[in-house]
Amino acid sequence: MKAVTYRGVGQVALEEVPEPAIQQPDDAIVKVTRCAICGSDLHIYHGHIPGMVPGFVCGHEFTGVLVEAGPAVRAFRAGDRVVGTFHTACGHCAMCRKGAYNQCREYGVFGYGVAFGNLAGSQAEFVRVPHADVNLRPIPEELGDEQALFCGDILTTAYGAVRNAHLQPGETVAVIGCGPVGLMAVQSAFAQGAARVLAIDLLRDRAELAERLGAVPVVASETNPVAQVNKLTGGLGADVVIEAVGGPKTVALAFELVRGGGRIVAVGVTTVESFAFPLATSLTRDIAFRIGLANIHRDIDATLALVAGGRIDPEVIISHRLPLTEAVEGYRMFDSREATKVVLIPDA
Ligand code: NAD
Ligand code: ZN
Repeated sequence: MKAVTYRGVGQVALEEVPEPAIQQPDDAIVKVTRCAICGSDLHIYHGHIPGMVPGFVCGHEFTGVLVEAGPAVRAFRAGDRVVGTFHTACGHCAMCRKGAYNQCREYGVFGYGVAFGNLAGSQAEFVRVPHADVNLRPIPEELGDEQALFCGDILTTAYGAVRNAHLQPGETVAVIGCGPVGLMAVQSAFAQGAARVLAIDLLRDRAELAERLGAVPVVASETNPVAQVNKLTGGLGADVVIEAVGGPKTVALAFELVRGGGRIVAVGVTTVESFAFPLATSLTRDIAFRIGLANIHRDIDATLALVAGGRIDPEVIISHRLPLTEAVEGYRMFDSREATKVVLIPDA
């Protein structure tokens, strides 16, 4: 089958690789109908993820049709339309039983190499899904595959970040980064009751995309975002800050944007080990700071329902739909920020 593989820093390739097969009784094989390129794939592309070896199949956002289920799979049968969770969980360990699926003892991420479960990715014609009953969801009948696609990752990541921030109706949310995750955070904040969302990006066109979703754009390369957010909040700062870029610079910015008693949730991926935490000011200003990987299984049913109910429209961020065979160009466009979000279609 055709698949996108990692080839080295700044290099992916479209290659012929063997089709996946059932390995465990609770595995399923999914024929991929849609997959996407995620900001997290760019960390691989930039060579920042240890354990990615040349030839490893990339990708973790996908929908498809289940073509084969192992004998222990109960919830699905061949022909079912499904969306995959970008990270996997076993569903029965102590962490899963606590609802901390992102801390599962068998945690893995599709297409993220040996350090993340050694699971071949979904930018391919077929993907093997371990613990299929746990790591797949049926796509509601009224939803097209593209509408469900981001529930497996960026939408649910963003939605979960807003949920982790304990947003109260009527509050003001600042979102740092208007890439796909940030744009989904804008929509999620409104869906969870935000009165206003202030959307910050270095790129004017990204901030303007957020404006189209109802946010107040703040172009950080043209104006001081701290001064701007202060001005827009009467000198208080934002009740909630969602960091959707990754790394110490934007996390530090979050502490400057949040009001006293406010909450920061960071979801941007970073491989930087440590960060100068503003300890004394966070003490006196009573700041809550949370950082973590998404817990897709906790929130995916909510995001699927919100999309099905018309409250969130994830498709608005898709700028390019390309055949899987043009994935190399898709990576280039997404990395250079020519594309906001690239969806790949294996059978185009
Ligand atoms: P992206 O790279 O497409 O978007 C990042 C955006 O941030 C871009 O629009 C860029 O212009 C903007 N930006 C960069 N530096 C900035 C700065 N200093 N100030 C303001 N804006 C800045 O990525 P994405 O797909 O939107 O993902 C965002 C982050 O979320 C990535 O790090 C990704 O790995 C991560 N992510 C995390 C999880 C999780 O489980 N925690 C899940 C999915 C994605
Ligand atoms: Zn992702």
